[in-house]
Formats: sequence, structure tokens, C-alpha cells
Amino acid sequence: MKQSKVFIPTMREVPAEAEALSHRLLLKAGLIKQSTSGIYSYLPLATRVLNNISKIIREEMEKVDAVEILMPALQQAELWEESGRWGAYGPELMRLKDRNGREFALGPTHEEVVTSLVRDELKSYKRLPLTLFQIQSKFRDEQRPRFGLLRGREFIMKDAYSFHADEASLDETYQDMYNAYDRIFKRVGINARPVVADSGAIGGNHTHEFMALSEIGEDTIVYSNESDYAANIEKAEVVYTANPKNTEVAELKKIETPNIKTAEEVAKYLKRPLDEIVKTMICKVDGEFIMVLIRGHHELNDVKLKAYFGTDQIEMANQDEIINIVGAHPGSLGPIHDKDIKIYADNFVQDLNNFVIGANEDGYHFENAQLDRDFKVDEFGDFRFILEGEPLSDGSGNAQFAEGIEVGQVFKLGTKYSETMNATFLDNQGKAQPLIMGCYGIGVSRTLSAIVEQHHDDNGIIWPKSVTPFDLHLITINPKKEDQRELGNQLYDQLMNNYDVLYDDRQERAGVKFNDADLIGLPIRVVVGKRAEEGIVEVKQRSTGESEEIHIDDLENYINDLYLTLN
Ligand code: ATP
Ligand code: MG
Repeated sequence: MKQSKVFIPTMREVPAEAEALSHRLLLKAGLIKQSTSGIYSYLPLATRVLNNISKIIREEMEKVDAVEILMPALQQAELWEESGRWGAYGPELMRLKDRNGREFALGPTHEEVVTSLVRDELKSYKRLPLTLFQIQSKFRDEQRPRFGLLRGREFIMKDAYSFHADEASLDETYQDMYNAYDRIFKRVGINARPVVADSGAIGGNHTHEFMALSEIGEDTIVYSNESDYAANIEKAEVVYTANPKNTEVAELKKIETPNIKTAEEVAKYLKRPLDEIVKTMICKVDGEFIMVLIRGHHELNDVKLKAYFGTDQIEMANQDEIINIVGAHPGSLGPIHDKDIKIYADNFVQDLNNFVIGANEDGYHFENAQLDRDFKVDEFGDFRFILEGEPLSDGSGNAQFAEGIEVGQVFKLGTKYSETMNATFLDNQGKAQPLIMGCYGIGVSRTLSAIVEQHHDDNGIIWPKSVTPFDLHLITINPKKEDQRELGNQLYDQLMNNYDVLYDDRQERAGVKFNDADLIGLPIRVVVGKRAEEGIVEVKQRSTGESEEIHIDDLENYINDLYLTLN
């Protein structure tokens, strides 16, 4: 393609609010243009990369017998009411009405639509298993759209759904998909790590996320250097072994702590170590208030709390609710009270004696609190985030942390949707059974951005050849010079037979052309310049910057060999 005819609006200055490197580079290299917050147009180069990623996904989906369909993005509320998610999904769901006042959503995901599709069409176990997938725009009114394509409000997803007669069949497809995801991310050039993730209220170890390692990642991965253990920090179990502190017991003492609120402030004010302060929080679980206790240096993990109580419905109590319950502001909360509210504590609270807690009276705390003597804990559990260096639950050493971008997720749904939506099949006894389901997503547009996060240098993008928008960047330095223009045109015709060529035929200064070429990042650059007359051009690798002068008689062979060595 001639660059003079392609729409590549490269930028000199990118807006300051573009924090993520991939966001800046995609804007700068003219791949995307923001329409409004979290919503982008994909320009020609990005479209080509998306097509390449999609092609790889399609090939790998075919290998695991997944068939492509395309479902509506506009979904009637009735379906979501059947699954119970019309109420439960929250403000991320983009809701709208048609001219008759009938309610719809713009699909953030397609479990409801696919379940209703299959339940109406698939009646017999003989047709199972069945896996359907699509590549389509999804809509989520994210609270914080950011980092460009990494967290958009409209984004492209590959979503697949599998249907099974039994668990063994689901296990098999799950493993196939897991392996396919591994291959997909390798093929598109992403260094991704599958991690055990939280499966929400359904429970169990039934989901893996694929994390592209990157500093900008919003997820923390906990992994082991000694085994292949890897988990999302939300899920990483904390192993509790008793390690009691302050074995001498002292008397409970109420002390004044004016304007002291956080655990850190309390520790500083009382000159006590942070881990001897116990934080008290009030949460609403399925509408019922509970207290949760955590040591000062630990942090509450609401995902673990949700898994513990088997619900998605957990919120922190607000200030008014807290004042109403204990008669004090959040900064003075404590477990010593006569209210009818259950107390849950993180396992590690058991190690403490003589600890500090709020007194349920503004401006006061208790020192020397003791379990059982001063208050009773109803249940202990693992309610906090693991810390770096703590032992891992597989016994393989200590927790290491890395940041990752979730580029894909595989999930065993079981009968969650088929039961609520009454999607059954007839088994070999002729008996109706709920379909067993799995779902499998890849953020296609997020993947595009994640590739750039992992493949760039100070000058721009460095595309892996599997997804690059064009293979070769052919540049004539001065197309006004006839010999250069003619050789450029000749090589363009010739190289196009075997490669996708972007031909920079623009009347721009050499510096502008080279800057743009670095920014756009095609794997190989062929420059027609001063030595055009002698039939000599320069061939440069984008990744290493190495270049060589090559005679045009040897050019094809040289490029063929070089291209083979590239990633
Ligand atoms: P996240 O935790 O990042 O919000 P999610 O777990 O809610 O994502 P899924 O429902 O698992 O997302 O969607 C499947 C895939 O779609 C994700 O693995 C991710 O790659 C992609 N994705 C999800 N939300 C977005 C978004 N707002 N922008 C771009 N891609 C997204
Ligand atoms: Mg996910």
C-alpha cells in the first residue's frame, strides 16, 4: 500500500492524560483515535493488526472445534431478567430503551444470548459437546476507562461458550481452550502467564486468567520461583501457621486518641508496631452487617470475603450506617460491643495479645485487648491479601509479585446459566438435564495494546511479524529524483508479490519519514536513497537497528533469509 494513500495520522505530541506507554504509542503512530472517553476508532494500521490477531485466534479456535457465529450486540432485558443479571450486573451494563419503551442492553458479554440460542435449538446429548465463538464489540460502562485500549468502554472481544452433557467433557474442552490460549498468546508475541483466578460466587478452582506481564498491568500476579504456581493476588491463599506475639497478658486500657483514625496514625501516636493494631471494618453481606478484623499491616481482600460467604453482594458499610450501628465514626471502630453483629477475623489476628483496637467512641482506642477475654470472634478465615515473601500454599517457597494485564480468561460456568434460564438437553435415558457450560474470553483490542506494551523501544513500536500491519516498509528518500522514484516503484511491484509492503512515496523530509517508520515499527525497512542509480538500497531491521547495503539483484533472497530469522 502506498503511504500517501493510507490514513496514518502520526502525532508529534500526545495528550498528557495518555499514561500507558502503549496508549501513547498507538496514538503517536496513528493507529487509533479517541472518539470519546473509552471509545476509539481503529485506523488502518490498527485494523490490520486486529485482523492478524483475529486470524490467529480463528485458526486456533478451529483446532479445538469451536465454530464461529455472530450474535446480536443489542440484547433484550428479558434475557437478563431470566438469568438474574438485569438487577445484579450494576452500572457497567449499558442500558437503553427502544421507541416502545422496551428495555435493552448493549452486550458486555453473551452468556444470556448464547444460552437462549442453544436451549431453543439443541435438544439431544448426541449434539454435545458444542463450542461456539464470536469476535465482536462489547460494551461496558467502566468506572475508570483508561490506558487507551486496555480498558475501554467499547472494546473487541473473542468470546466462546461450550456446552456439555457431563463434567468430564467440560474438563476436556477447558483444557483444550487453555492450550489454545497458550498458543494464541505465544503466536501473537505476548509473554503471558496463566494464573489461577477467583471464580466469584460460584466457587472452586475453575478459572484461569492469562496475564501479559507488564508494569502497567492492573492485576498483581503471585508466583513462585520454585514451582509453576501462579495466581491472581485476589485468589492467592495465605497459609496460616501460629506465631504468637506478646504472650504476657495485660489489662485492657481505654486511651484517648484525639483525631487519630487510620491504623498507621494509631501506631505512630502510640509508638506501637503497625502489626499490633487491629483494624475493624463493617461490611454488608447479602444485606446483613458483619464486622471483619484484620491486622494493621494487612489488607482486606473483598474477593476472598465474597468467596467465603458465597456471594457477590458485599459492600463496605457507609459512615451513616456505621454511626448507626456502633455510635462512632469509622476511625474508632472496634469489636468490643454489645450489638448483635457477628465478628469475623483474619487468621493472623489469633497471634496477637495486648493489641490496639477502636473503642467505638470517637477519639478513643483500647490498648491491651485480648481475644476471648474482651470479645469473641465468631469465625476466623483467610480474608486478606498475601504479602510478598510469605509462604505459598503449594509449599514451594515464597510469594513473588509481578504486574500483569488480563488478556484472556477461561472459566467453567457449570450450570449457573442453564439452570436459571432453563436450558436443558435430553440425556441418553431421555431425561432432561441442565447443560453444563464453559466460557472463554480474549480481549482482542486489549491484546493489541498489550503487544505494544511488550514490544517497543524509545523510538516506537516493534511489531512481532505474526501481527505486523505490513511486513516491509519501503521508503524512497527523495521521490522527486527520478532514479529513486523509479527504483522505488519497481521494488514495490516486485516485493508485493511475497510481502505486505507499506511504500512511503510521500514528499516528506527524510527525517520525518524515518521517524514515522521507527514509530510505526514494521520489521524490515528498505530504503531507496542516493545509491539508487547503482541499484543499491539499505535494508534495516527494526528490532536490532542493524542495517546493510544490498544490491537489488540480491534483495529478495536477502529479505527472505532475514525475514525467516525474525520473531
Ligand atoms: P477486567 O477484570 O480487566 O475488568 P474482566 O475479568 O471483567 O476484565 P472478562 O469478563 O473476563 O473481563 O472479559 C474477557 C476479556 O475481555 C478479558 O480477559 C479482557 O482481556 C477483555 N476486557 C474486559 N474488559 C475490558 C475493557 N474494559 N477493555 C478492553 N478489554 C477488556
Ligand atoms: Mg476476566
